[in-house]
Amino acid sequence: MFLDTYKKEWLLSRFGEAVKFDEPMSMHTSFRVGGPAKVFARPESFDDLLLLVSWIRENKIPYFVLGGGTNLLVKDKGVDAVLISLGDCLKKISIGETGKSRVIVNAGAGVETRSLCSFAIKNSLEGMNFALGIPGTIGGGIVMNAGTAIGSIAHVLHGVSILGQRGEVKTIPAKDIKSGYRGLTFLRGRIDSSVEKIIILAASFSLAPGNHAKIKDEAGMIIARRKKKQPTDLPSAGCFFKNPGPDTSAARIIDQAGLKGLKKGGAMVSPKHANFIININNASAADILALSKDVQDRVENRFNIKLVPEVIIVEE
Ligand SMILES: Cc1cc2nc3c(=O)[nH]c(=O)nc-3n(C[C@H](O)[C@H](O)[C@H](O)COP(=O)(O)OP(=O)(O)OC[C@H]3O[C@@H](n4cnc5c(N)ncnc54)[C@H](O)[C@@H]3O)c2cc1C
Repeated sequence: MFLDTYKKEWLLSRFGEAVKFDEPMSMHTSFRVGGPAKVFARPESFDDLLLLVSWIRENKIPYFVLGGGTNLLVKDKGVDAVLISLGDCLKKISIGETGKSRVIVNAGAGVETRSLCSFAIKNSLEGMNFALGIPGTIGGGIVMNAGTAIGSIAHVLHGVSILGQRGEVKTIPAKDIKSGYRGLTFLRGRIDSSVEKIIILAASFSLAPGNHAKIKDEAGMIIARRKKKQPTDLPSAGCFFKNPGPDTSAARIIDQAGLKGLKKGGAMVSPKHANFIININNASAADILALSKDVQDRVENRFNIKLVPEVIIVEE
């Protein structure tokens, strides 16, 4: 237990309403499940974020940065840590260096991915349409290397700004960033993300000038396709498992194992998309975990393939 009265008072005096105690994470995740965060902070400016993070690091307090909470499963017991949401800060998008064949667009980590997609369409810029329909923020999108069959963040990333251990802002060009399937694995030669907990502040994207009508039409088709294939009207965290290989889709093998519609408590394998676990009736994190374990076991028995969660499980 890291939070004593003195620390609580300090947080309240510095951040007021932007800090909450024992805040249910079901209110801040797309799964709509999750127990309380000991401290939930939504800094309203970069300076507030800096102050909070230096205090946390100085006091060696456990922390976790949250984007839109769309790829997280917080356990029912909650988290004895400071959860920092960037939902209220770092939300600026701007156009940077502009050339004939390339336009750099800068976005804060708190910008919603869909806002960046809309910005690109509005400014007739090609490159972001792959991300249409991916919820969450730019920070989360980078950490997860969010993407679909037609592209991922790594394909358009130009650089990332992160908050260094001493509060300094470091900008890392894309060539020094190694991104893997659904994850940024490490920042080559500069920082090892498994050693230093990275806080992403902003990123720049390399897009290309294009034809407005063509980009808009393509966007319409991508959104329509997603709506047809995914249960976007029910709480979930998107695809629960990673695809086991480039040619093996997790959704396909879960479907082939006959698991669509399988239920545990309030959680169900979506009948529309087999790799979506959906919260149909006040599911608990335990329901979702039990269902995901059942899916893993049945798929392993049938195909000898161990499914690995794409969703990040947040626990004490
Ligand atoms: C309906 C639905 C559809 C989806 N479809 C897709 C899809 O097509 N493709 C896809 O890839 N994903 C998809 N997802 C999953 C999810 O939306 C993406 O992974 C998204 O990019 C996560 O962003 P977020 O801001 O919500 O991150 P969060 O879920 O809040 O966090 C994800 C990870 O990023 C870290 N993080 C977030 N922000 C920062 C920051 N600023 N600095 C450091 N670390 C940070 C968190 O600590 C955590 O480890 C879908 C989810 C839903 C609910």
